[in-house]
Amino acid sequence: MIYYTFLLTPNEVVEELNITGVKAYPLVQTLGSMSFGFSQGWINTRQTTIVIISTDEGIEGVGESFGPARAIAEAVEGYCAPMILGKDPFNSSVIWDTVYGYLRMNSQKGILIEALSAIDIALWDIKGKVVGLPVYKLLGGAYRDKAHAYATGLYRPNVKNVKDALVEEALGYKRDGFFAMKLKIGHASPEEDLDILKAIREAIGNDIKLMVDANCAYDATEAISLAKQMEQYDVYWFEEPVPPEDIEGSIEVKNNTDIRIAGGECECTRYGFRELIRRRAVDILQPDVCIAGGFTEMQKIVAMASAWNMQCIPHVWGTNVAVAAALHCYAAIPNIPGKINPPEPYFEYDRSPNPLREDATYEKFILQNSYIDIPQKPGLGVTANIDFLKAKTI
Ligand SMILES: [Mg+2]
Repeated sequence: MIYYTFLLTPNEVVEELNITGVKAYPLVQTLGSMSFGFSQGWINTRQTTIVIISTDEGIEGVGESFGPARAIAEAVEGYCAPMILGKDPFNSSVIWDTVYGYLRMNSQKGILIEALSAIDIALWDIKGKVVGLPVYKLLGGAYRDKAHAYATGLYRPNVKNVKDALVEEALGYKRDGFFAMKLKIGHASPEEDLDILKAIREAIGNDIKLMVDANCAYDATEAISLAKQMEQYDVYWFEEPVPPEDIEGSIEVKNNTDIRIAGGECECTRYGFRELIRRRAVDILQPDVCIAGGFTEMQKIVAMASAWNMQCIPHVWGTNVAVAAALHCYAAIPNIPGKINPPEPYFEYDRSPNPLREDATYEKFILQNSYIDIPQKPGLGVTANIDFLKAKTI
């Protein structure tokens, strides 16, 4: 077996690899009748930005960030690209800190960090391809070789009988073999949310884990009241009960319910997560590799989570490029805390309508008994379908 694509002899010197191209594909797909709602509104389009970085050795890397596509593409090509052309992808931390240094005044969170996330993911894809190893090996190795996937879905359907439709969707996830699923709340009144939660719990039984996600819909008082009423339905975690800016509110909710509080998908960088972690604002941290700063920053966030003995379960929402990146992160997250039989961390598997998800890559992920294999090919282990990207670029 050829393990490394190159091995230097003692007298050889490492040649620098050079970035020669940075291309962003802003993708938008309208959903039409597949539109769905959450606590902040209706999702009528799916959009994401795929970034391809090329090098003078002909090796290309792919990354993704799924915020506002046009804005992220412009940030990638118009702002970040001139700073990274000619640089060596193996200097990924140096590149990250250099670009962030320029961006700090303009964007410590949000679109520019999302652009940097997609770039960083592509650089790690290149690094893996050059040495012939999957990214998780470069991150320190896999604590697990498959991901225990839960279904993210159960959004607000655009139908007359919402409760029946959500119960049917939940039973579909059960039939698909999912061990856990997540229900969106906060779109309707708390009374209606509780009624739907009760109906789903009764339909799927007590053996399947059930989480709820409010996407920042409440203040602390409302969230605590709702949490106390949800405890009887064995809710495994309550995600983003309050807006991420309200760290004190999150702490208040966390200290007044038996349900675990999860959050962090809106947060960026080691600096943002430092606040969530040192203030113990949540029980479960949910950084997203496509938002928080790529693999380079995820390593630092995970290290802090480990040091503070806090669970870290990545948020995942994009195409199969994002899924692959998240799987490598997931594989390399240590057991927090370590023990002989640690519980498996959960892996978010978005099942909501996204026509871009599957066709962005040639490789597909297969769910078997609620598990997905960690990619084993070099780099991310997925290959972007450039023809599809071109066809969907706006
Ligand atoms: Mg969420």
